[in-house]
Formats: sequence, C-alpha cells, structure tokens
Amino acid sequence: MRKRVYIAYTGGTIGMKRTRAGYVPASGFLQQQMEAMPELKHPSMPRFDVHEYAPLLDSSNMTPREWVAIARDIGDHYSRYDGFVVLHGTDTMAYTTSALPFMLSGLGKPVIVTGSQIPLCEVRNDGRENLITSLLIAANYNIPEVCLYFGGKLLRGCRAVKVSADGFAAFASPNVPPLGNVGIDIEINWDLVRKPRPRQRLRVEELASPVVSALRLFPGISPELVGNVLRPPLQGLVLEAYGVGNGPDHDDAFLAALTEATSRGVVIVDCTQCLEGTVDLSEYAAGSALARAGVISGFDMTAEAALAKLYYLFSSGYAPDKVKREMQRDLRGEMTVTG
Ligand code: ASP
Repeated sequence: MRKRVYIAYTGGTIGMKRTRAGYVPASGFLQQQMEAMPELKHPSMPRFDVHEYAPLLDSSNMTPREWVAIARDIGDHYSRYDGFVVLHGTDTMAYTTSALPFMLSGLGKPVIVTGSQIPLCEVRNDGRENLITSLLIAANYNIPEVCLYFGGKLLRGCRAVKVSADGFAAFASPNVPPLGNVGIDIEINWDLVRKPRPRQRLRVEELASPVVSALRLFPGISPELVGNVLRPPLQGLVLEAYGVGNGPDHDDAFLAALTEATSRGVVIVDCTQCLEGTVDLSEYAAGSALARAGVISGFDMTAEAALAKLYYLFSSGYAPDKVKREMQRDLRGEMTVTG
C-alpha cells in the first residue's frame, strides 16, 4: 500500500510566481509546478493531497492565528494520513516549527515543515529536493515530531533557527545535532528522535491571545524603553540578553524596571543572543542581578521557542508561577535538561 501524505500549503517562496513587483504567492501555481514534476508520480513516492490555504502568505505575514489554523488542519486530517508536510515561507518558519510541537500534544506521526529559497518555477531551485525529501520522510520514517527539513538537514522544529538569508543551508539547530542528515542516504539519528508514549493520542492545543513580547538588549538601551515594553497588559517577555544571559547590572533603573514587572507577575525569560550555548545566570554578577530582579533562565532554548512556549503556557490559563516552572522544564525537546 502506498503511503499517504497530507500537504498543507501555507505559502512561501517555494510556490511563488515571478512578477514585476517581485515574487508573490499565487493560488494554484504550486500545484501546476508539481503537476509538471514526473518524479512526484514515481511508485517510490507516497500519494499526497495538497490543501492550499487562503490567502497564501509570505510567512512575514504569519501570526499565531495561522499557527492555530495549521495545527487544527493537521488534527482534522490526522487519522487519514501517514504523515504531514507543511509548505511554508522561510522567514518565520522557525517560529511556526517552534509553536507547532506545543500545540500538537501527543503527536505520533511526522510533521515536516519545509519551503525553499528559490521557487519551484525557476530552473535552479532548492524547492524540488526539499519537497521530495520531505514527502519521503513524512511517509516512511516513524518520527513523531514536528521537524524542519531544509538543505539536507532534518532538524527538531523547536530547536531550529534561520541562519542564512540566501543560502540553501538556511537553517540550523545549534544546540542539538540534526535528527537526520540527507546525502546519498537519508540517515536518521534515531537516538535523538523522541519516543512516542504508548497509547498517546493527538490533542490540538489551541492558542488564545496572551500578550507576550521579545526584547533584544543592546548597549545603551534605556530603562524607559524597557519599562514601556513591560507595562500592562504584558504577561511574558523573552529577554534576549548577552552571552550567558547577562545584562547591564550597573543600571539601577533598568534593574528596577525588571523587578517592578516581575513582582506584578510578568514572566521574563532570559535567552542568549548567541547562536549556541546556554544561559547561566550564576556565572557573572551581570547575570545574577537579573535573577535577583526575578528574571528566569531560558537555558539553551532559542528565542523563537521561548516565545512560542510563552504563548502556549499563557494560553493554557496557567498562573505566572506555573508558567515560570513550566518554562524551565523540557516539554517537547525544546531545551537540554541538565543535572
Ligand atoms: N519571504 C518568504 C517567506 O517567508 C521567504 C521564503 O519563503 O524563503 O514567505
């Protein structure tokens, strides 16, 4: 029996058409390109159905509403397909692949999110390989995770970041090795793949509209700016700090703004601006001052994953204390558990 894969086509470069104004998503155009690819009809390929979203989006226009639509769509078709491919723009792909694992609780089938840097309609493109390999992985590999496949790397979705604006190797997961490497063979690193729990069932966790934000520290950042960001109704903030999570501890007004917000119950999660490594707020005085102000460590979570996790936890209706505890616990493979 040929396997069946559901393709959720949300937009992105992969299906775009060239116009005078630049590339734009165009309804039905991706399907035309796929129709013209005989390799997709080869017996070694799974059968697939393409569901095009309306409107198709450049992923710069994505919001958590679209994350919910994708999660629901997968939930609605879950029992009828062996795996899922989500075609998505690269710009915010890592945010979507960070959010979906929290929303697809009990996932037992592969969800492979992919796209391309050059559309399928161009002679030289990376979409063809990304699409074909994603379909093969979604159909034939028992990986019960949301993954991002791009440029020969299969990454855990909630660990992925976009690292190149124009290269074909556009994504990486700097704090965990790829779940798979694709060259002559598709090699899966099975030791890293999460094991499905027995009898687990998919539950789609919807997102509400909590007020969360992200702020990147920079030399000279004013305490007023920080205080303004932290004003009600903000519930959670990803603070992208320096190195192992440090910030300007000589700036009393800055620390006071943080303390005032955390004492009101705002959850401030410290993630590093570095691509690789983990936050450790005990290493420097410039870190422990933030901890004393009530900031919690995001350890080695990406800022994308921390933001998605805040959306998810506050949507679950948890009180700030519970959100803080859960932020520091590994829920979907988004952080490395130490000690
Ligand atoms: N702007 C495009 C998008 O994110 C870029 C891409 O798909 O590569 O939709």
